[in-house]
Amino acid sequence: MKVVLASKNPHKLIEIQEILEQYDMELVLQSELGVDIDVDETGTSFEENSLLKAEAVVKATGLPALADDSGLCVDALGGVPGIYSARYGAPACVTDRDRLNHLLENLRTIRSEERTARFVCVMTLLYPDGKKLVAAGSCEGYIASEPHGAAGFGYDPVFYIPREGRTFAEMGEEKKNQISHRANALKRLCALLDMEKKQ
Ligand code: IMP
Repeated sequence: MKVVLASKNPHKLIEIQEILEQYDMELVLQSELGVDIDVDETGTSFEENSLLKAEAVVKATGLPALADDSGLCVDALGGVPGIYSARYGAPACVTDRDRLNHLLENLRTIRSEERTARFVCVMTLLYPDGKKLVAAGSCEGYIASEPHGAAGFGYDPVFYIPREGRTFAEMGEEKKNQISHRANALKRLCALLDMEKKQ
């Protein structure tokens, strides 16, 4: 099945492609079809935002679209930055590193055992006839007191996974893609696709 990926983030594309290699889905970038959409993420949840992105791409291409919305939810901050992860600390924070430093600053007084957090991802596969499959995934960890590692993007250098003994940015793409929130959401999505086939 040919599916348009509703994203411009090259890191995400690489991650999703690597995970989907095992499944029967041909991913096409929206830019490959000449589609250049920047959807306003006006939803109030990961679900709503991923649906908004998928709807825009289906409308523009007439093909099934796969969209994700993801972010980092930090318990000591009441779930912040959550759906606002990409714009955390705006307008002062402009780069990934600014946002990461802003997060560390806001957690400065929080003890290590209370720095629990999770990455969350919701994937929506929307068909042109309006049918949709929605799958959520998460990955539990802690926010480290300082950045470690250079791989990945965003908050990866401070997202520490105790059972791995390292941050997302220290483990590299291959390992991250086995355990990440996106991997877990995609696995769930593929299970939904398998169930759909059997019906
Ligand atoms: P989205 O593109 O609207 O889903 O925004 C996702 C934002 O959440 C990104 O810009 C990052 O700040 C953060 N984020 C999501 N997934 C990851 C990840 O795997 N590593 C690091 N940061 C992430």
